[in-house]
Amino acid sequence: MPSPLEDVKALFTGLATTMKFFVRRPETVEYPEVKRAIPVGARGRHQLRRHEDGLERCIGCELCAAACPAAAIRVVAAENDPEHPVSPGERYAAVYEIDLLRCIFCGMCEEACPTNAIVLSQNLEMADYSREALYVDKRDLLAPLPESARAATGGTT
Ligand code: SF4
Ligand code: SF4
Repeated sequence: MPSPLEDVKALFTGLATTMKFFVRRPETVEYPEVKRAIPVGARGRHQLRRHEDGLERCIGCELCAAACPAAAIRVVAAENDPEHPVSPGERYAAVYEIDLLRCIFCGMCEEACPTNAIVLSQNLEMADYSREALYVDKRDLLAPLPESARAATGGTT
């Protein structure tokens, strides 16, 4: 059983520790008002990129889906209409879906893509309230039209 002297010593040791952390700057930040810098190379939410003229980079080859170790990607390709192509290739991705709950953010899809269409962005904010919201499709993934392409279409697309 500890002596009264040891008890007092332990009490002061505890108080000293409390005071040390009381005056120290906190390690935590007031997220989301304050955001920390994201480390270079961090892999976040995917984006399907476009060319400068607005055409989609994805040609629906499905290599990303084949490379994905988590089977998180589903691509359904379709033939481009030569009058109104969606991408520069013969085909484009009519359906492009990612199950973010399956994804392990390994970056294999990005590496496999021959047109640099699919990239993992630095957007790490992916929390949501339902599983369905984390099953994302082209509407969620496709990059907005570049300024130059928007000007060419008169801002109609
Ligand atoms: S980052 Fe990895 S796990 Fe996620 S979709 Fe791409 S290949 Fe699949
Ligand atoms: S994102 Fe890249 S790898 Fe995946 S289907 Fe499109 S072009 Fe092919």
